[in-house]
Amino acid sequence: MMQNKLLSFVPEYLPLGLILYDKDGYVNFANNMALKMFGVLLHDICGLNIYDDPNILTADKVLLKQGRDVSFETDYDFDRCRTQFAKTSTIKERKYFRTRINSVRDEAGEAQGFLLTCEDVTEQKEQEQKIMDAYHQIRATQRELSMALDAGRLTSWYYQIDSKLLLKLGSRGSRSVIKSFDAIRERVHPDDNKRFETLLEDAIRKNDHADNSIILRIMDEEHKQYRYFNFIYSVSNNDKGDAEGITFIQRDVTEEMEYQHNLIMAKEKAEEADKLKSTFLATMSHEIRTPLNAIVGFSQLLSDTTEDEERSEYKQLIETNSEILLKLIGDILDLSKIEAGSVDINRQTLDLTQLCRELYLSFQQRIRNSKVTLKLVDPYQTCKVRFDRHRFIQIFTNFVTNAIKYTPQGEIVMGYECSPGRVRFYVKDTGIGISEQKKCRIFSRFEKLDDFAQGSGLGLSICKAIADATGAQIGFTSKEGEGSEFWYEGYTEVEYVERTQHTTAVDEVKNETQTTMLANNIQNLNILVAEDNDSNYLLMKNILKGDRLTRAVTGDEAVEKMHQQQFDVVFMDMKMPIMDGLEATMLIREFDRKTPIIALTANAFNVDREAALAAGCNYFMTKPVKKQEITDLLSKLWIIDQQ
Ligand code: ADP
Repeated sequence: MMQNKLLSFVPEYLPLGLILYDKDGYVNFANNMALKMFGVLLHDICGLNIYDDPNILTADKVLLKQGRDVSFETDYDFDRCRTQFAKTSTIKERKYFRTRINSVRDEAGEAQGFLLTCEDVTEQKEQEQKIMDAYHQIRATQRELSMALDAGRLTSWYYQIDSKLLLKLGSRGSRSVIKSFDAIRERVHPDDNKRFETLLEDAIRKNDHADNSIILRIMDEEHKQYRYFNFIYSVSNNDKGDAEGITFIQRDVTEEMEYQHNLIMAKEKAEEADKLKSTFLATMSHEIRTPLNAIVGFSQLLSDTTEDEERSEYKQLIETNSEILLKLIGDILDLSKIEAGSVDINRQTLDLTQLCRELYLSFQQRIRNSKVTLKLVDPYQTCKVRFDRHRFIQIFTNFVTNAIKYTPQGEIVMGYECSPGRVRFYVKDTGIGISEQKKCRIFSRFEKLDDFAQGSGLGLSICKAIADATGAQIGFTSKEGEGSEFWYEGYTEVEYVERTQHTTAVDEVKNETQTTMLANNIQNLNILVAEDNDSNYLLMKNILKGDRLTRAVTGDEAVEKMHQQQFDVVFMDMKMPIMDGLEATMLIREFDRKTPIIALTANAFNVDREAALAAGCNYFMTKPVKKQEITDLLSKLWIIDQQ
């Protein structure tokens, strides 16, 4: 009896809501906890049927009818309860109930009713919800972070200090193990390795949480090249406050570094150009003033003196200084054009054997010093290369002119040698050589290292600029007091046949020139000068000094004169009234293919040269013409006495 009484108190001490239904589903009893949870009074719910409860799903009700137990969790709808089932005093409150309904049976297994136990899990649910919200929030943030990293072309790494593993933040915001840290370590540029190791040690030792950054070169995945990466890193701790890992945000800054490098280079170049400009102006003013002073001074003296000997000496000095001035201005224009990139390199097929012989003969005329001999080494029967004719002559001339200038006695050897895809030409001398201190300045602008010699100091820098523009190599070897060798090596198509017999090219040249020997004096040549300008004609007349000189003032007159008589050579001005030199030459070539025609023009451009040669001219000269040039050229055609 006592026991039954005790048992009747039990429902009130349970931490659960408890409702008893009879076997037809009508409410019989509810403990206080249940009444409180649902906000109802016992007399309001007694007699209500479980099958009418709108908060129990129909499917569960079917199971109950079949005598099965059910359990479910509900976000309890108090409004529905109030309107459709039991009068509840709970308003606008959200409650989660975990409910279990068991069918109660007697010993014989007969259904006696239902027992509903109900637990309020609202707090637990809210905690779970908060965790879920936080989880979604983290996932969304990770995704945003990952998108931001992608957009900024950044990669995020996490270095786990204990495991020595690197975890990469993936595109979906999750971290995955990618590689061992040592694999990355091996790819760090050897020069950056020490900084990298120090960084790691310091970061771990100091447990440094600040955002630090470092730029390192790391070999790319394909193991092809080092790329620059900027790493922003910071240390994270475990619960005990010890360094546990390092987060690295990595950004490829290779392009930026290159851009920066180019900017620095450009700045340095601009500063150097500025310095060069000042040096250039100072040197120019000196270099121009010197010959100009001589020209002005001696011109005055020339008009003041009547002595023939003095006059001729002054004239010679004026001529020499004019030449220096012209060469200087020509060199400056050439160098500035090459450096501005406006000089085209016109590769054409050159007969190197022929050209070197011509040059050899021409250079020979320049040697006034009887203690110096010039030799040509030409080991080929034929040799054709793709090269710019004008530039070839310019470089060779520079080398030989220097050799002549700096060789008081001995030998100058000019030559060339070929191998497939390569031609090398050189000039060796037994001259004064170049001292060790001067060697590094040989190709610099205005480095005229010997004040005693005539020159602007630009010749070799022009050659160097040409070599740079054509991807060729230029260089020299020299020993002070013994001599020098200057060489130029170009990479181009080459076709050559080596000599079978040991005949030197020089022998051949001599033979050839002997057969073309027609005169031994310019005066003996019958020359036609087609020139409309009186002073230019006068200059030609003075240079050629011949009685056998005929003048034509227009192109058609030149053609007519050629019809009338035989000339040894024609000087043809390209710009004349009525008919210009080009047209006249073309007309002459219709009936005379042999007589050499030398084009004269004030323009030194390649197009003019090519047009003249295409019209049928054999040679090309730029005004103002110089006596030596004309004598050199004529001596190429005929052996003449230069006195
Ligand atoms: P320059 O027009 O004054 O000769 P270059 O640029 O041609 O100028 O030469 C620069 C300097 O190099 C010369 O002033 C000279 O000191 C030196 N040099 C060039 N060639 C030779 C050589 N064959 N022997 C000795 N010195 C040379």
